[in-house]
Amino acid sequence: MIINFGVRRPKSPLFKPRCFTIDNRHTNPTVLKSGDSGHRTPKMTAPPLSIKSRQQEGVLELQWTHGTYRLPFRFLRGRCPCASCVNEVTGVRMVDVEDVPLAVAPTNIQFSGNYAIKISWNDRHDTGLFTWEYLELLSKDLATAAAP
Ligand SMILES: [Zn+2]
Repeated sequence: MIINFGVRRPKSPLFKPRCFTIDNRHTNPTVLKSGDSGHRTPKMTAPPLSIKSRQQEGVLELQWTHGTYRLPFRFLRGRCPCASCVNEVTGVRMVDVEDVPLAVAPTNIQFSGNYAIKISWNDRHDTGLFTWEYLELLSKDLATAAAP
């Protein structure tokens, strides 16, 4: 599992200095112990083949076996599943896309165990865990919304 932040192999024609890539095609199925306070049961959704944060285009590009999806940063940030964005008891969303700054972008992306990524945003929000299952759901949601 490789998290490559800020540096990419220069041979790539898509090289952008502010682009970072997470490549987990060779993910070892070892569950890493994370410092996550709210314990979650790891989901069985397979991880994406690759996760690329394209800062210039403002999208997180997720490559799944069933296709590649580009999720706008603002869309993702507005769907942050953490306890300060969604009321854990009522399930009411407290931070929505409209509340998110237009120029929101990730400053860092880390793996949480082998079932999720934790995204740190430039609005200083960094408590959202995006599980593979949730990212896959968002990918499909976005594809459905974009369809005619
Ligand atoms: Zn959140």
